[in-house]
Amino acid sequence: QKPHFGLTGLAVMGQNLARNVAHNGFPIAVHNRTASKVDEFIADFGTEGTFVGAHSLKELVDALEAPRTILIMVKAGGPVDAVIDELVPLLSPGDTLIDGGNSLYTDTQRRNKDLTAKGLNFLGVGVSGGEEGALNGPSIMPGGQREAYDRVAPIFEAISAKVDGTPCVAYIGADGAGHYVKMVHNGIEYADMQLIAEAYDLLKNVCGLSNNELAKTFGEWNEGDLDSFLIEITTQIFQTKDTLTEGHLVDFVLDKAAQKGTGKWTSQNALDLGIPVTGITEAVFARCLSALKDERVAASTQLPGPVDVAFEGDKVAFVNDIRDALYCSKIVAYAQGIQLMDAAAAEFGWSLNRGEIATIWRGGCIIRARFLNRIKDAYDNNPELANLMLDPYFRDGLAARQAAWRRVVGEAVKLGVPVPAFASSLAYYDGYRRASLPANLIQAQRDLFGAHTYERTDREGTFHSSWGA
Ligand code: NDP
Repeated sequence: QKPHFGLTGLAVMGQNLARNVAHNGFPIAVHNRTASKVDEFIADFGTEGTFVGAHSLKELVDALEAPRTILIMVKAGGPVDAVIDELVPLLSPGDTLIDGGNSLYTDTQRRNKDLTAKGLNFLGVGVSGGEEGALNGPSIMPGGQREAYDRVAPIFEAISAKVDGTPCVAYIGADGAGHYVKMVHNGIEYADMQLIAEAYDLLKNVCGLSNNELAKTFGEWNEGDLDSFLIEITTQIFQTKDTLTEGHLVDFVLDKAAQKGTGKWTSQNALDLGIPVTGITEAVFARCLSALKDERVAASTQLPGPVDVAFEGDKVAFVNDIRDALYCSKIVAYAQGIQLMDAAAAEFGWSLNRGEIATIWRGGCIIRARFLNRIKDAYDNNPELANLMLDPYFRDGLAARQAAWRRVVGEAVKLGVPVPAFASSLAYYDGYRRASLPANLIQAQRDLFGAHTYERTDREGTFHSSWGA
């Protein structure tokens, strides 16, 4: 009997997902544009399960039993459209195409609309966890037609990561919802990585920790509330010796951060929807600033920092303060990311289950963390929660650590150590908890120079005034 499930795009992600599907007992037809890769794949992994190799998209479609499902794992952007355009004339109504790449959610919405009009289903599926996750269990965020998802759910549930026996996959919502949530996941990943990098900067340059001490410190942090994949790999990084020199490899890595765009998309969309996603956006800009290496090197000899200041506190206590600042800022990153998802849900008509999204991020993906159990609990306890910071567990956690958070940001400012994500997260916390902000002055200025009008605190209506003595 022919398989129902096929995959095109045998680069690292596609190969590993195909093997994962086969390891779970599902037969799968596989295809790649450069056909020789199909033969290499079958030669290397053919014994791991039931594979059918296809040398053209027509062969792939013919190899599948209707209703067919084809997972597209090619480079995001134009290549996805190219593959869809070639596949559409070969498919029958009721067949399903799945894009498992890092596509922009608006592309997914467009493709879903076009394909639905042709009688086809289209799922946009976020897959997190890199190549290792793809092989051994990723976190999967599917969006699109619910019925089409239900048909492939057994395969996705089988191949996904499991935490306490629960698969790290759940239907997210219509059209682009899966790719949207994957985009925000990546945005939170940017923020988390930047926060860890700022902690590293302070631990190294203020507390004077060596790489071995950094490994030990991050290892200890990984035993507590910060327990997460990113802290775990950070520990490993500080343990890694360089093979070319006597030193540690991390010290030889050029300090220019690259990016592929998902963090930027998150920030762009946050600006469109008017949601203050400051932590993620500072993380994106911090990568941009890091990329200006030559300018920074030149400026380092010209722009003075603080003069005659030194750290005068207790270094051991400050290490713990940095841990607490990291924890608080991380809560803010999630709070902001979830607020953005809420706004997108309202904008696009999705009903996102925030507790369930936290559940599927607990395993397989890059931002997996112990703390996601608490986020799930927060939304289980109060599905209407306006902001994660208001959940009693997180509210109390922030309250207990805010003094440490302020000491860290204060010291960093005093010493001239840039901590954009720590500082902007704290400013968000302080802004969000203020019943009144100085925006009354901004409204007054707008009304004065542009007659933009304003509202009053003491009576209904819209006002315009003639300002000045
Ligand atoms: P790449 O993004 O490097 O894409 C390479 C694959 O795309 C090859 O199979 C290539 O075929 C195919 N391809 C490129 N252009 C075309 C085209 N015009 N027509 C048909 N096929 C084309 O592969 P990855 O495995 O790294 O990633 C796949 C997707 O998964 C991407 O969207 C990526 O962003 C996403 N992703 C990747 C992760 C990772 O860790 N790498 C993690 C999570 C998601 P050929 O061999 O013929 O060149």
